[in-house]
Amino acid sequence: MQLKNVKAIVTGAASGIGRCITLELARAGAQVVGGDLDVDGLKALEAEGIGLPGNIYGLQLDVANESIVKEFILLAFEKIGDANTLVNNAGILRDGLLVTRDEEGWLRKLPTAQWKRVIDVNLTGAFFMSREFAAIAIEKNISPALIVNISSVTRSGNPGQSNYSASKAGLDADTRTWALELASFGFRVAGIAPGLTNTPILSRVSPEALAEMTAKIPIGRIAEPYEIWQAMRFIIECDYFTGSVIEVDGGARF
Ligand code: NAD
Repeated sequence: MQLKNVKAIVTGAASGIGRCITLELARAGAQVVGGDLDVDGLKALEAEGIGLPGNIYGLQLDVANESIVKEFILLAFEKIGDANTLVNNAGILRDGLLVTRDEEGWLRKLPTAQWKRVIDVNLTGAFFMSREFAAIAIEKNISPALIVNISSVTRSGNPGQSNYSASKAGLDADTRTWALELASFGFRVAGIAPGLTNTPILSRVSPEALAEMTAKIPIGRIAEPYEIWQAMRFIIECDYFTGSVIEVDGGARF
């Protein structure tokens, strides 16, 4: 697909990687609806989009809320017409060990709510978005169409991230599953697994943990969001790429 023909819905568009992908798409002439919980961030994004060759429309969204997702997808199709691309980028971290002892020796367990919220946003949110997007795109005979899931280098497991790692491993499994299921409708489904990337999400990681993880990156630094966009651009432009996840992680394995 050519970048200028992209009509995209990007979740988590108000910050970090999603913001960068949205702006780069608009710079390339694409029409983009950015969804996010953060309304002020969306307003700032729309303002930055003024004057670019494409257009950016911000719409409030909670990917974890099924009825909100249904309404959002309908509105997004109204805004840009035949949307042909969905980027499932919204994601959160709520790290914690499964079971540990605190400083006073008491056992602490990962709270169920902490487990659930991450699965609800990162995995179930992508499921709601993909299902509603695919249903309308198929109904409208939109082809080719593309779904890109943003995974993570820690999808194969990382201490303190049982919720996050599981959500991203699940997302990768569905990248493959949806690629197989939707190919006959003219869909491609692919993923990107970024390594540590310079965005506000890292404010949730302690400086010590960040330094320890950065020291394990062969390239010697964390990524910039633009470097994740470069993988996104490849996926959009390469019509033969589907069912796989590109690792953009500086060679890191945590
Ligand atoms: P970020 O925190 O800068 O941006 C995430 C955005 O998602 C925010 O604007 C936030 O408001 C939005 N969001 C959160 N919950 C939402 C919800 N329920 N509905 C709609 N929007 C919601 O983070 P980022 O680093 O840009 O992360 C983007 C994606 O990349 C995430 O899926 C993250 O897991 C993944 N990722 C990030 C890194 C990294 O080091 N930054 C590494 C690997 C993977």
